[in-house]
Amino acid sequence: MASPYADTRYEVAVGSHMLVDFGLAIGVRASLGHVSVRVPGEPDKFVVKGRGYRLDTLARMRAEDTVVCNLEGEVVDSPPNIVPCFEVKIHSCIFKARPDVMAVVHVHPKFATVMSVIGKPIRSMVNEGNRLVMDPIPVYPKQKIITTDEEGTEVARLLGQGKVELLRGHGAVTAGKNMEEAVTDMIHLEHHAEMNYYACVMAGMDHDYVSREQVLEFSNSSGSQYDLPHFKQAIAKAGMPQYGGVWQAWFEDAAAKV
Ligand SMILES: [Zn+2]
Repeated sequence: MASPYADTRYEVAVGSHMLVDFGLAIGVRASLGHVSVRVPGEPDKFVVKGRGYRLDTLARMRAEDTVVCNLEGEVVDSPPNIVPCFEVKIHSCIFKARPDVMAVVHVHPKFATVMSVIGKPIRSMVNEGNRLVMDPIPVYPKQKIITTDEEGTEVARLLGQGKVELLRGHGAVTAGKNMEEAVTDMIHLEHHAEMNYYACVMAGMDHDYVSREQVLEFSNSSGSQYDLPHFKQAIAKAGMPQYGGVWQAWFEDAAAKV
């Protein structure tokens, strides 16, 4: 009989490779960071990267290497000699506090982590992910890895009902309604932090940025292209587009390595 966790394990392995593809877990950070996904139909369990592999990098993750945990961060199912990742409490405490969250990502992104230390708010600079940063992002003030239940609970409490959190001098956390949202938000967060770095270099710490009002104006206007006359004409002639996003391409590129 197939394992009830097989599909989720596969998804987590693909998500791990996606973080590598985007440079979020490479070089000195090759073994640092993890995607977790809640097991569908079993909300008290989730799948995450483990620790104890001979070759311990996200780029080496396979579905069968992942670990199934409960909401206390205890192992439900794992390969021999493999324990949960050191910071499993980030995941278990957020899943426990947020029944709406189905996936969590934690990595040590270069630019976002620099911003967390110098206290520079990450401002809206480009369209991609602009809603994510239009309000201040909470920063967990301690510079340490999150290992205890108390620390995990603090991280979850600071996240509140939000989607993103920075950990001072350490990294970032995103929480989403599925892996697509959590991974994409992390990619967008780091993209924005990099744009903020360039803005600081070119225009100083008080550089201009896209206002909250402009972000909302943009997001309210996007998505309605197909109501425009020239698109109505195109759809009448060619039919409605069947595919919409880049996520599937990212997923397939990463899945080819799992
Ligand atoms: Zn970490």
